[in-house]
Amino acid sequence: MSRFVDRVVLHATAGAGGNGCASVHREKFKPLGGPDGGNGGRGGSVVLVVDPDVHTLLDFHHRPHATARNGTQGQGGFRAGANAEDLELCVPDGTVVMSADGEVLADLVGAATRFVAAEGGRGGLGNAALASAARKAPGFALLGEPGESADLVLELRSIADVGLVGFPSAGKSSLVAALSAARPKIADYPFTTLVPQLGVVSAGEEVFTVADVPGLIPGASEGRGLGLDFLRHVERCSVLVHVVDCATYEPGRDPVSDVEALEAELARYTPALGGALADRPRLIALNKIDVPDARELAELVEPELAERFGRPVYPISTASREGLRELSFAMAREVRAHRAAQPVAEPTRVVLRPTPVDDAGFTVEADPELPGGFVVRGRRPERWIRQTAFDNDEAVGYLADRLARLGVEEALAEAGAQPGCPVTIGDVTFDWEPSTPAGVAVLMSGRGTDRRLERDGRVTAAERKAARAQRRRHRTDAELFADVADRDDPEDPE
Ligand code: GDP
Ligand code: MG
Repeated sequence: MSRFVDRVVLHATAGAGGNGCASVHREKFKPLGGPDGGNGGRGGSVVLVVDPDVHTLLDFHHRPHATARNGTQGQGGFRAGANAEDLELCVPDGTVVMSADGEVLADLVGAATRFVAAEGGRGGLGNAALASAARKAPGFALLGEPGESADLVLELRSIADVGLVGFPSAGKSSLVAALSAARPKIADYPFTTLVPQLGVVSAGEEVFTVADVPGLIPGASEGRGLGLDFLRHVERCSVLVHVVDCATYEPGRDPVSDVEALEAELARYTPALGGALADRPRLIALNKIDVPDARELAELVEPELAERFGRPVYPISTASREGLRELSFAMAREVRAHRAAQPVAEPTRVVLRPTPVDDAGFTVEADPELPGGFVVRGRRPERWIRQTAFDNDEAVGYLADRLARLGVEEALAEAGAQPGCPVTIGDVTFDWEPSTPAGVAVLMSGRGTDRRLERDGRVTAAERKAARAQRRRHRTDAELFADVADRDDPEDPE
């Protein structure tokens, strides 16, 4: 028997980007032909995709860990590393994605709707891409970034216009089968239906879907049956239908108390997607009137039910099909009314994950753990740290340039940072050296210019002359930075 799983935890880990390559072109008689290190490939993302042929989250129950592949490293000869393919995981229509603490991140409705659960890391730029007028032959490359990882909760909330609620064996599955082409499992014992059964019904001009929602019994919240959790499957339904068994012989049960008990369960449930279930239009279907006793009972309780709950009541038999036409047209009317109340057909909903407000910028705060220290936070500075090979002085200098251009130096000074104080960005802590504004010292000594290349004639005499003149002019730091800032940053086009 297949198990129905409609709530799982997914641990998604995206692939890391490949490292960029630092390489110098070599050819016979042309040993130093310039930087030719290619970029690293992008890491694969973990992506959730709605597949209408998938009906449960069972696969995730068995395999809760999903890991996408890494991008490969760049190589010499301008060869870029390969991008890793995204890892696509199929989820049922109506899957709600939540963070570990229950915040709804996305509501995946409609075939092929996608959600990036964990974003693959960017590949690092190779030294060919890092070369510029100011840095002819970078002897470094950027590291690939690690892939994101995320712990997500996936919950299934079935898509249907009409939800059938009722005690086990009331005839919900039979009703779906009788109204539509669906052939759900029908049996004489509780909990036959472990997956919400969907059927497509057409009544007059209206075509709508009906879901048989299993496991709704009173006391579910105290652990009886399959639990209140199944109520989440009626969350999306615009109309609810009570299916009442009029032929049951269970003592202490009658149609009125059955409806009352289920109303109490509906009232107790708080939908994650908003809109109390108690506000949904409801119909009452009194089933099994082909049984003489049941028909008698139905006729007896009909006025009481109508008065007590103020809902239209339909005596039906899924066996003899009596009353089904009236019921299906009543469903169609309610569905039509609901659809008319919706402004437009609901578009495919993809909730983008919120981007931090300081996306383009950064913040500087006193470090709560290191006295006198500061913490710099921001997407870009943190990314740059991850991209830096700290055993390469040039790479560290390049990082310093980028941080200075973003204004991190200035902000630290404004925040009261003292020379030598510990500054933490991401998972790296270093001593702040304001007296040597980032990159200046290195620039003065011709950073990014491989002396051997100069001998090779790749730096023109005019350029050398201009550089010497610049150094003679004792330019201020600000001017030097303006120079650096003019250059396009290939990694951050924004
Ligand atoms: P569910 O648990 O609510 O989905 O109920 P099922 O559809 O599985 O039906 C439970 C039992 O009731 C089955 O044995 C059905 O054959 C029976 N049943 C359903 N509808 C009718 C009906 O209209 N008349 C009679 N006599 N039996 C019915
Ligand atoms: Mg059933």
